[in-house]
This record gives sequence, C-alpha cells and structure tokens, in this order.
Amino acid sequence: GPNTAYLALNTQSLPERLANVPVLMQQLGDDVQQWDVKEVGDGNLNLVFIVQSPKGSVIVKQALPYVRLVGDSWPLPLYRAFYEYHALTRQAQRDPGSVPEIYYFDEKQALIVMQFLSPHVILRNKLIAGETVAGLGDFCGKHCARVAFRGSELSMKSADKKADVALFAGNVEIPAITEGLVFTDPYFDAEMNNHTPELDPVVARLRANADLKRIVQSMLAKFASNTETMLHGDLHSGSIMSTDTESRVIDPEFAQYGPMGFDIGMLTANYLMAYFSQPAHRGDDLTTYQAWILSVVEKCFAAFQTEFRQLWMTERTGMLYPKALFEDQGQSSESACDAVLANIWLDALRFCGIEMHRRCLSLAHNADFESIENTSIRAPLEARNIEMGLALILNADTLTTPKDLTALAKVFN
Ligand code: ADP
Ligand code: MG
Ligand code: MG
Ligand code: MG
Repeated sequence: GPNTAYLALNTQSLPERLANVPVLMQQLGDDVQQWDVKEVGDGNLNLVFIVQSPKGSVIVKQALPYVRLVGDSWPLPLYRAFYEYHALTRQAQRDPGSVPEIYYFDEKQALIVMQFLSPHVILRNKLIAGETVAGLGDFCGKHCARVAFRGSELSMKSADKKADVALFAGNVEIPAITEGLVFTDPYFDAEMNNHTPELDPVVARLRANADLKRIVQSMLAKFASNTETMLHGDLHSGSIMSTDTESRVIDPEFAQYGPMGFDIGMLTANYLMAYFSQPAHRGDDLTTYQAWILSVVEKCFAAFQTEFRQLWMTERTGMLYPKALFEDQGQSSESACDAVLANIWLDALRFCGIEMHRRCLSLAHNADFESIENTSIRAPLEARNIEMGLALILNADTLTTPKDLTALAKVFN
C-alpha cells in the first residue's frame, strides 16, 4: 500500500501485495488465486507485469532503482514513475485515446497500473517483421502536433504551463541520460559506447568534424533549456504499440518540457533506421515495404503540419501570438504559423540525425540493426544511416518538404 517502503515486485509477491487495491479488484476480481502474473518487460529500465484473471487484465509497471540494461552499478531514481504517470495523464488529456488508460498510481512503490493493450505489439517488431499499420503516419503526426500545441503557451495559460515546467524540472537524472547518450557520447570515446567494428572509419570521420559537434551541441542546448512544450522524451518505435489498424503511445518516463521538434524528430529517425535496415530483413517485398515506411514518414509530417495549423486557428488561446496582434487587427497570422512550423521542421531534422547516430554508436542500440547478426551485412546498412544522419544535421536547411526528406533517404539507401 501507499505507506509501505519501496520493494520491487515479483510474479510471486504481486497478487498478495496488490490484492487490496480497489481498481485491481474491480478489473481482475477479488480471488487472487485466479490472478495469473507474467513478467514481460523487454525495455531497458523497468519491471512490467501482465496480470490476467478470468475477469480481465491489467499491466503493472514498476520502476527499479537502477538501469535494468546495465544492473545495480548504475542507480536511477524511482521518481521517474511519477513523471511517467503525470506525462500519461497529460497526453490522455491533450490527445484523448492516444495512450493506455491509467487505473492507479502508487508513488512510493513507483508503480503504475494501466490498461493491457491487446492485441497490440511493439511497433518496432512489426517494422522488423515487414508488417504495415493502417493510419500510422496520421496517428503519429496528429499525436505529436496535439501534445506539442496543447502543452505550450500557444494554448495553455502561462501560470499553468509554468507550473508544469516547474513540476517536470524535477526530472533531472532521466533527461541527463539523453543529454549524455544521445547528444554527447556518440562524438567521443565514451566508456559505455559500442559500435560495429567495421564502422571505425565512419566514426573517426564524425569525431573529426567540429562543425558537426558544434551543431549537435547547439541542439543539446535547445533540448536542455527550451521549455516550449511537454515532450514524451523517448518516442521511438519501441514506445508505440500497434495492431494492424490502430496505435497507442507508451513509456513517457523521459518526459520533460523541451523543444517542439524533438519527439517527431526522434520518431522519424526510428522510421528511417527501420528503412535502412530492411535489406537485411526482407526478400521480394523489400521495395514495396521500404516505400511504405517512407510514406509513413511523409504522412507523419503532413498530419503534424495540418493538425498544428488547425489548432493554431481554433485553439490559440495562450500568451503567444495572440489574436489581438493579428486577426483582431484584420491581419492573417498564417505566415507566423508557417514560421513556427519551419523552425519545428528544422529542429526535427537535426534531432532526427542525432538519434540516427546514437543508436549505432553509443549505448542502447535498436533491434532493427542489432538483430542483424552478420556484421558484414549490418555495417554497410548502419553506415548509410549514419551518413544520412550527418547530412541531416549539417544540411537541414536545404530540405523544405517531407518529400525532400524521403528523397534524401532514397539517395543514401
Ligand atoms: P521500459 O520503460 O522499461 O522501456 P515499457 O513501458 O516500454 O518499459 O514497457 C516494456 C514492455 O512491456 C513493452 O515493450 C511492451 O511489450 C510491454 N508493455 C508496456 N506497457 C504495456 C501496455 N500498456 N500494454 C501491453 N504491453 C505493454
Ligand atoms: Mg520502453
Ligand atoms: Mg552494435
Ligand atoms: Mg522507458
């Protein structure tokens, strides 16, 4: 219960320990003998249990006081569950239906009970298996636009937004992982780095490029100090669960206030890494499937921009770009919206390039490449991905439309 000291759950102790939580009894029934518990966590950080009974099912997610991927030599605060819970409730409000339903939160136990998404599976696994998801780009683009717009001072009252920034500013250690692993480690010989050995010459070229490192550090400065909206903070294809026709976002424990282009940029990188890894995973359907992935990237940005423009016209009630300065004086604010979107686009492309680098060069690689066991097949595909990342970081300003982006991917493929 809420007054007990933190103790990690296991499949044996879970029914007994959660038996008197009302919402669990409601979902699963009060006969704990009938509760079937499986540990399914495949992530890097936390315990995740599916609890099923003849009556229903829930997911129980509990933070561990260390990084699961590395072990107890790398401690990590339990408070990340608090931020995950608060991020989930905000995402549910800002984009209804986009996240699992949240049933219960116990701060001391760092534990969240939520809807068991089924038959959803992790999107990354579908992308490796060559499966399509109808409406995926549209869902992702709308989700990113709604959460970005409605979590900003384009929409929120300043007092509410600033209070929220203050709340999430307590999440220090978790964003620090991103500041190190994503923005810094790939570009020097950091202790926890690893890369496919054949990439040595490519890695040496990146580290010799001071312009690259300057731009990446300017993006880190934005990530760390621009608080324009609430970010998911870890929006990759392992944080989306999909059926063949619908998708949900999970796992926002890296939530912080940050720049609007971050989430959509990171997500785009994960689509592009899926794209570049496909030659190792597909046969006859390679061309068709790669084309589908690029169509998701295009639709994601198109939906983001359309939804953002729509919200700009209908929900611009915050401190920024007030109607008093534009519409009320008989002037259009369309070019102001265009300029805001153009900045988001540029940021997104650069964040995208950085994510494409770190997933091949520092800790926590992604299965798209990592599951390719033969390094003489993996390395050239990773190299294409790294080279495109470099082009995005250095030359983002030469790309104007989502089609320009996917055309560039085809050049590097
Ligand atoms: P971590 O923070 O450790 O990465 P995640 O929240 O990503 O943990 O969850 C780990 C895994 O547990 C996911 O990859 C997914 O397979 C499963 N999972 C998490 N939440 C749900 C859910 N609501 N419904 C079904 N499966 C889930
Ligand atoms: Mg995860
Ligand atoms: Mg590797
Ligand atoms: Mg996580």
